[in-house]
Amino acid sequence: MIEQHLSPASTPPLLQTRGITKSFGQVKALAGVSVSIARGETVAIMGPSGSGKSTLLHCLSGVLLPDQGEVVFDGQIVSALKDRPRSHLRLSRFGFVFQDGQLIPELTARENVALPLMLTGTPRGKAMNAADDMLGRLGLAELRTRRPGDMSGGQAQRTAIARALVTHPSVVFADEPSGALDQATGHEMMQILTATVAMAGASLVLVTHDINVARWCGRLLEIRDGLVHTDRRLEPIATAAEVLR
Ligand code: ADP
Ligand code: MG
Repeated sequence: MIEQHLSPASTPPLLQTRGITKSFGQVKALAGVSVSIARGETVAIMGPSGSGKSTLLHCLSGVLLPDQGEVVFDGQIVSALKDRPRSHLRLSRFGFVFQDGQLIPELTARENVALPLMLTGTPRGKAMNAADDMLGRLGLAELRTRRPGDMSGGQAQRTAIARALVTHPSVVFADEPSGALDQATGHEMMQILTATVAMAGASLVLVTHDINVARWCGRLLEIRDGLVHTDRRLEPIATAAEVLR
């Protein structure tokens, strides 16, 4: 049974795939996926292991190029961009949160958070100030000079959220962001992630195997064998206003 998600015709999609396929050798990871994501929409991607979730996330975010089809972001065909403009687009318009944070161990929290800004040309002092500001907003002001090795898992993921949001991205991509956390810390992380994304007016595309994580999003895409199996709306468990009250 295929359920169809219909975006209101009045809101043009911010991010879209049109019939994308992606193979790794004999393995067809994506077999023709067309999805449209609106500005500010929060989308959870679920499905069995090996079904193509991460490949879809990587194609949507311009990390991987599809073999066929197109990825369109804000009117630009991302999949047709050369490496450098594509990488600049990723750094300036997208934010990323991964399972294990992927913070740089040698850098302090504020240096980690400032990094995406410095990579797009923001002077160091200005980037550091923006990092401090973002860390403060996430309740991490006192951890500014701490290195990832001296943080708890939850603190490291909050730092990763600060790093993902510091460039004011249009879309935040997260692949199993709470996968390495216990349930309570994962819950708190999702609360902070969805509230921060909502406050920034960004869209969220999140891969998870946990329905309780997916429930933080307004839409659920289920992927099976490289195809969209179901696409439906969810009633998010909390609104940003409730969390930020
Ligand atoms: P999921 O995230 O749903 O677990 P993936 O998108 O990571 O699935 O992978 C989909 C399929 O593509 C799997 O069969 C996987 O083994 C294969 N695959 C993904 N990335 C690569 C790669 N870089 N090289 C070879 N095979 C890959
Ligand atoms: Mg995966």
